[in-house]
Amino acid sequence: MAESEKKKWTKKELEQFETLILEKRNEVTLELKEAKQKADEVLKNNSNNAIYSSHMADAVSDQQEMEKNYYMMDRENSYLKYLNRALEMIKDGSFGICSSCGVLINKERLIEVPHTTSCFDCKSQTA
Ligand SMILES: [Zn+2]
Repeated sequence: MAESEKKKWTKKELEQFETLILEKRNEVTLELKEAKQKADEVLKNNSNNAIYSSHMADAVSDQQEMEKNYYMMDRENSYLKYLNRALEMIKDGSFGICSSCGVLINKERLIEVPHTTSCFDCKSQTA
């Protein structure tokens, strides 16, 4: 069978994907933790500032910092969910296989978007 017609990942390939996803998940978990700490700090500073001073400029930049933080946390939380979904897909054998046409999805695409369920061709057709 030609490489391009292969319908299944080898065990080794799946293990490589799993390692990669776990690494990404660790990274995101760490970033999320740091973002949360930062947000907590800003909150704490805010309540102190409210009592002892009224520097509007500080308050505004804190507010922006907060929003940036929350936005990032939100994004990373979704990414974390996707990574977990990809791990489940590895377990149930649906990982990296196009749900429309059944071909193996391009490896580079999977590394970028591990939870994807359509190959580039099918994705372009529905988009
Ligand atoms: Zn497809």
